[in-house]
Amino acid sequence: MKTLALNGGNPVISNAGPHFSWPPITESTTEAVLTQLTKSVSIYNRSGVIAELEDRLKEYFDTKHAVLTSSGTAAVHSAYMSMFIDPGDEVIVPAYTFLATATPLFQLGAVPVLADSDKTGNVSVSDVEAHITDRTTAIMVTHLWGIPADVQALRTLADEHGLALLEDGSHAHGALVDGVKVGAFGNASAFSMNGPKPLSAGEGGFVLTDDDEAYYRVLLHGHYNKRCRSEIPADHPIAAYGVTGMGLKFRIHPLAAAIALDQLGSLDNYLARREVTANYLRQELGHVPGIKFPEIQDGVRPAWYGLPLTYVPEELGGLPIERFHTALLAEGLHEIDRPGSTGPLNQLPLFQDPEPMFPHYSARAEVAYRGGQFPVAEQVWRNTLKLPVWHRLEDLPLIDNYIEGIRKVVDRHTELLG
Ligand SMILES: *Cc1c(COP(=O)(O)O)cnc(C)c1O
Repeated sequence: MKTLALNGGNPVISNAGPHFSWPPITESTTEAVLTQLTKSVSIYNRSGVIAELEDRLKEYFDTKHAVLTSSGTAAVHSAYMSMFIDPGDEVIVPAYTFLATATPLFQLGAVPVLADSDKTGNVSVSDVEAHITDRTTAIMVTHLWGIPADVQALRTLADEHGLALLEDGSHAHGALVDGVKVGAFGNASAFSMNGPKPLSAGEGGFVLTDDDEAYYRVLLHGHYNKRCRSEIPADHPIAAYGVTGMGLKFRIHPLAAAIALDQLGSLDNYLARREVTANYLRQELGHVPGIKFPEIQDGVRPAWYGLPLTYVPEELGGLPIERFHTALLAEGLHEIDRPGSTGPLNQLPLFQDPEPMFPHYSARAEVAYRGGQFPVAEQVWRNTLKLPVWHRLEDLPLIDNYIEGIRKVVDRHTELLG
């Protein structure tokens, strides 16, 4: 008779953690950073570790161009700029995503048109289609928690309507759809390499594209002078702007690039290990009442940035998710998380009333979102519990403890009711 920790019993896990840490900093990471430190800490053109990492990214994703940026947010901003998104243009973005998938649109004066999720949490293709108007210029898709959205259907939809497709691959480095890496479907795509992301630089990001014109615009948006002057052909009509660029600077730090270059060498190993962990958790917890796993379509390989569980309160006597989660935390399962800043954007003040920050939106009554407008996204988000997907074999006992803890709370859930 194991009493629930919340009711005074012993927790399944007594070690306070952390139980998961990312990125893995190995000796080779340390050496890469120290070597870079002695070589150069500021790179103005496309050379050294910058060129090396961009070349490796182009090879890895099979795209013509890659441009490193200081953050994923900057990468998203430049990707929008590369597609000629103008003030007043409508861009369809998932309602359920991390905020930076959409927030750079405010900088461009464009209108973020939110689309609801399907039951997986990823954006619903039919809801995207329902929001296309004659002012729509692009569709943006996020591959939430590393599980690819239906990017092939979105590609077809964008082509049918003459729209640009953009991808935010920040959760999904290395995820595949029919053998093709996500990030290679869009006209341009943006990735974060922030701390916890599957490919980490600590801070950083990158834009991918096959389109030369988009590449030049990404350069002019986040770079100036040397790099623009060496990369944009001198006879190109916009080459003259290379000296100033567009007025922003989004260069990555060479030490961050050195970290990412080191991590990229192990990415496929980490992804393979994460896949084993995710499959194990799904197998061990697959028949436990109260939780459901996302269905993975044939031909799809997720990057498993996280493992989202859908909580089904009706299967546990209506036990509220807050209480279920509290009971799991009490068992010492500290890494089980409810998503916070990745959530329905219609709940955020910037999307409800941007005018105090951006006065020109006073003319745009359409950016006046309210809670409750995206029922599927809001429901999926509310019922999501997220597990880390461990990448090390030696974490197996810990993974078993998490499984035991979840089973314990589910088995004894009636003690939490009423
Ligand atoms: C992390 C993230 C970003 C922003 O990246 P930063 O590097 O933190 O600026 C954008 N989109 C998604 C989906 C993210 O998860």
